[in-house]
Amino acid sequence: MSILFELKVTEHFDSAHYLREYPGKCKNVHGHTWYIEVVLQGENLDSTGILIDFSELKGLIKNIIEPFDHQLLNEQVPFEVDNPTSENLARYFYHEIKKKLSDKPVKLVRVTVSESRATAAAYFE
Ligand SMILES: [Zn+2]
Repeated sequence: MSILFELKVTEHFDSAHYLREYPGKCKNVHGHTWYIEVVLQGENLDSTGILIDFSELKGLIKNIIEPFDHQLLNEQVPFEVDNPTSENLARYFYHEIKKKLSDKPVKLVRVTVSESRATAAAYFE
């Protein structure tokens, strides 16, 4: 078994959404503070003992989530057709973050999106 380091960072944003074709009250516009938890793994630390700089990682995630902050998610391009559910957000953010990490010595393990303390949806491949 090889030795791995695992890093986890969490960012958040606030936005509104509604669920199309949903029979319950979530069909109405309402808001959440969305928490995005990103988990990475890697083996090799740089000369300062860092796998990937936390501030760099947080900046990268902030750039991806910033366009959605204080917006109606249903009007944003990735969710104009697909419902902005926690599951679909997790998948979208996973793919966007993976693209930005392509030149880094880390593997994106999982992106978890929470719309409340009691619920979370994770996406991984
Ligand atoms: Zn909701």
